[in-house]
Amino acid sequence: MIVVMKPGCADGDIDRIIERAHRLGLREHLSVGDERTIIGLIGDVHRVDVGAIEALPGVERVLRVGHPFKLASRAFHPEDTVVAVNGHSIGGERLAIIAGPCAVESEAGYLEAARLVKQAGADFLRGGAFKPRTSPYSFQGLRREGLRILARAREETGLPVVTEVMSPEDIPAVTEVADVLQVGARNMQNFALLAELGGCGKPVLLKRGLAASIEEWLMAAEYILANGNPRVILCERGIRTFEGYTRNTLDLSAVALAKTLTHLPVVADPSHGTGRADLVPRMCRAAVAAGSDGIMVEVHPNPAEALSDGPQSIRPDAFAELVATLRPLAAVVGRSL
Ligand code: PEP
Ligand code: MN
Repeated sequence: MIVVMKPGCADGDIDRIIERAHRLGLREHLSVGDERTIIGLIGDVHRVDVGAIEALPGVERVLRVGHPFKLASRAFHPEDTVVAVNGHSIGGERLAIIAGPCAVESEAGYLEAARLVKQAGADFLRGGAFKPRTSPYSFQGLRREGLRILARAREETGLPVVTEVMSPEDIPAVTEVADVLQVGARNMQNFALLAELGGCGKPVLLKRGLAASIEEWLMAAEYILANGNPRVILCERGIRTFEGYTRNTLDLSAVALAKTLTHLPVVADPSHGTGRADLVPRMCRAAVAAGSDGIMVEVHPNPAEALSDGPQSIRPDAFAELVATLRPLAAVVGRSL
């Protein structure tokens, strides 16, 4: 971290920075020029509040040399992290295929969908019991009953379950059933939830916020890591842009870039990323080509009747076809399926 002092600042201003640095366990390297003094702060600067230093008298600017995230960074952990999930894994050579309806709507409907996606090649089931909906009048999910159905589907198919947790008080109940707890885009900066998930003992799939920068997304992951949970999977699910033809803009450059910035697995969700079932298969293939460690796809046996996200849900037969086309593609990019 570099602290650029104002020209002609007082000696006391420099001493104050050095004193502060020592209190934070850092060392300093002073570079005294004709006009300005520059102070290099050396050590674990992740805990330093840039704004607080910048507010000190005599300081012109503070520059961070590295990234503000530490545990999530590739510099800290050069090898890819492979998250183990109950006999399966996310982040290794094999692509993770996470599929299922947006929400758990009924026992019979969910079990049918679960069987169909398994048959088609999914290795994780998805489905929300707790649904974050823009309108309070929309279907909010079956909640505890939804969790019971997910547990049944997990037992019947043998597939691990990925499901959303919306608030800290639901973590114990969701943890009992889920193999991976999903943090939805709207909760990406719910810091109380993230911190609590640090102690849940299960992997967490962290969706990128609707308007979150890549750095904010990685800082959200850092919350979970810093609170004791090393099993974090990132999920790019599209961001808000000016474009109206798609629900969101699936940012595949974020997938490619995140893979360079972090060792954590990164998957893509073209269902929410586009909002359009017709685009989902092509964008899944694009995500794999971009280096995604897996895909999350909404699949519904009857999308026209879905209680949420029908327009972006593909049918089981289209999903089976998608998985078949991903196989040769995976091999081209050095992955397997
Ligand atoms: C979902 O996965 O159904 C969901 C609500 O996702 P997101 O948080 O990305 O909108
Ligand atoms: Mn959905």
